[in-house]
Amino acid sequence: MILVDSVTKKYPGDAKPALDSVSLHIEPNEFAFLVGKSGAGKSTFIKMITKEEIPDSGKIIVGGIDLDYVKKRHIPSYRRRLGVVFQDFKLLPRRTVYENVAFALEIAGMSGKEIRKTVPKVLELVDLLDQAKKFPSQLSGGQQQRVSIARSVARQPKILIADEPTANLDKLTTQEIIDLLKKINDFGTTILVSTHDESIVNTLQKRVITLADGKIVNDQKNNGIYKLDATPVPKESRTLQTPGHALKTKRKVM
Ligand code: ADP
Repeated sequence: MILVDSVTKKYPGDAKPALDSVSLHIEPNEFAFLVGKSGAGKSTFIKMITKEEIPDSGKIIVGGIDLDYVKKRHIPSYRRRLGVVFQDFKLLPRRTVYENVAFALEIAGMSGKEIRKTVPKVLELVDLLDQAKKFPSQLSGGQQQRVSIARSVARQPKILIADEPTANLDKLTTQEIIDLLKKINDFGTTILVSTHDESIVNTLQKRVITLADGKIVNDQKNNGIYKLDATPVPKESRTLQTPGHALKTKRKVM
């Protein structure tokens, strides 16, 4: 579903690459956490997937689309195929909850009739139907993040990417957001979440990919726990990362 093969990215002026020959394969319907200290390369990795940044070398294929062939003018429509959730929500302040979700669907070309049918369903999913007429400023941080998630999943993307979605939320609200992402994953959406929140990673026990200095130092397939170094993890929860492994398996999974 997400295939990254030997990707290297160095920003101009930096001494070291932000990503250093990273290879990774996230399978359909997987829920994966991307963890690592500040500066490890998490945001850069996510920006590679959303094509906000372009790798210096390596290959990225997302949902069968080879990002090398997504031209600049097609990037917005490529991004609309993904659900992307940000830590600062990025809601439109002068639009209501309902309008924020409806607007995303309008841009995606959905008819008015379909929009009127879809928005209430999605707001129900995130438990915000009763807040539909409010503006973002009238909501709590957790509620705003739920609107943002509603907006991202309204078009039923196969992949949802979230960059530190709980960074601005308290512990209880964080748990609510993670529960919601888990529910969306249970419906069949592949999810990649970057975070430095140890408690949510350990509670969920899903796949945990650890970045340090732009390299993957750990990839625990199941029952992953939060750890920031390369000390060994139990054998049964480890996946093999061999160069080129990801690309060899691509045809089977797309
Ligand atoms: P994380 O999300 O794990 O905190 P980042 O991907 O933001 O890590 O950063 C990885 C490295 O790349 C850091 O050394 C950071 O300073 C550098 N970096 C990130 N964005 C830029 C940029 N736009 N220009 C130059 N260097 C950058």
